[in-house]
Amino acid sequence: MDAFALYDQLLLRIRDVLNLRAAAALLEWDQEVCMPPKGAPARGRQLATLHAHAHALLTKPKTRAMIEAALQDIKNLPEDSQLLLREIAYDHERAIRIPERLIRRMTEAKSAAYHAWLEARSTSNFTVFLPHLELLVDLSREEADCLGYEESPYDALLENYERGMTAAQLRVLFLEIAERQGALVAQLAAVEQPDPAWLHQRWDCTLQRIFTERVLRDMGYDFDAGRQDTSAHPFTTNFSIHDVRITTRFDENNLFSALFGSIHEGGHALYEQGFLETDEGTVLAAAPSLGMHESQSRLWENSIGRSLPFWHYYTPLVKELFPGQLDTVSPEDIYRAVNSVKPSLIRVEADECTYNLHIILRFEIEVALIEGSLNPCDVPQAWNEKMKQYLGLYPSNDAVGCLQDIHWSHGAFGYFPTYALGNLFSAQLYNAILRDRPALWQEISTGDFHGLVEWLRSHVHRFGRRLTATELISKVTGSPPTSRDFLDYLESKYTSLYAV
Ligand code: ZN
Repeated sequence: MDAFALYDQLLLRIRDVLNLRAAAALLEWDQEVCMPPKGAPARGRQLATLHAHAHALLTKPKTRAMIEAALQDIKNLPEDSQLLLREIAYDHERAIRIPERLIRRMTEAKSAAYHAWLEARSTSNFTVFLPHLELLVDLSREEADCLGYEESPYDALLENYERGMTAAQLRVLFLEIAERQGALVAQLAAVEQPDPAWLHQRWDCTLQRIFTERVLRDMGYDFDAGRQDTSAHPFTTNFSIHDVRITTRFDENNLFSALFGSIHEGGHALYEQGFLETDEGTVLAAAPSLGMHESQSRLWENSIGRSLPFWHYYTPLVKELFPGQLDTVSPEDIYRAVNSVKPSLIRVEADECTYNLHIILRFEIEVALIEGSLNPCDVPQAWNEKMKQYLGLYPSNDAVGCLQDIHWSHGAFGYFPTYALGNLFSAQLYNAILRDRPALWQEISTGDFHGLVEWLRSHVHRFGRRLTATELISKVTGSPPTSRDFLDYLESKYTSLYAV
């Protein structure tokens, strides 16, 4: 068989893997959005079957033989096909390193840990979760050994979410953040934050939905290739580049929580809708890392959605939508209200000024767990001390401390840093956009997002995973990942906003 026929056959096989995963993603979407509670056990089995089939197909000896044969003739393929082939080989290589036995043990351990975590959190009893955390740390260390690493076992796990990044690189970035961002937060904590009476009203959820859909359309989110539903935790998922779905959640006591949820997920969704048509059904129609994905949501949510020009445009609209409720409110009032800074114990409620500090604390703890320098039983104490150190707060119990997040019960060590990297990447991209489009803020203040979307399409989205996040950010912004742009952005925005 010639190089092209071999390659095409392999692509069809990988497309089957992706189709199985898309079917699983649709079941997962349904689980969060529509499924009645009693459907959970059967749904769990259905998902396990689909994921097992996808994994088996990717790791079959026959698949390996096809990859090896195609690689032998790789120089006869066009450049872009060579790249796609190498990406398929990378995915296969990582998948086969984890033995079936370990996958099964991890699946069981995660399922048990999740239920124990729910109970531990609701009763604020860490000892219920402890044996599960110990097992998941052990299994994750075993996973790291199977995957291989040079310096730290944590690097092997981080690679699952942020390819190419290492704990050592993150330590440098996070140290700078801890110093400068910590100092800014301490400064702002002393300033009275706005809590105007107009915020405390009832906001009709149907009208809120209309508002979120209006903003999403303006952003360029294609409702013919997506939809917005509600779920307990907002998320984005896709089954193809022509079916990218988002969720948000409405709170009638809060005018902004659904809106910023929608803008955040809309940023993720624009990325997914922006991959090249020709990459559809291949592994290239994907972001290079979770940090890069998060850069898109944070850019839209914080840099754009929490800017004054944005509210110059949307204040009249929101006033019209909620007649009589915002008569005395100016764009400046909303700008201040949506940028209030308050250190809090809970990560998901944190503002953009304090957010990274929550991540650094988690990163330090999970690196220590995986490297073996922290015993799982000492996590609550380590957590509380770091919370005091970084945010000046001390949790009164573990439910609002080390038990608040779901990630460790899923064995997802290495995930948290991607949130902070999203902030750093978004600030670097934001500066690059401003250099290329000096009229950006003029455009935003008239509700015109076309230029911004076009820029993101041509500089970020269309690459899919052809470049790693570090390569992409270096190419587009002229600098490797750095904390400088984000820290400059924060200091300049908040010191002028609060005149400190
Ligand atoms: Zn996100």
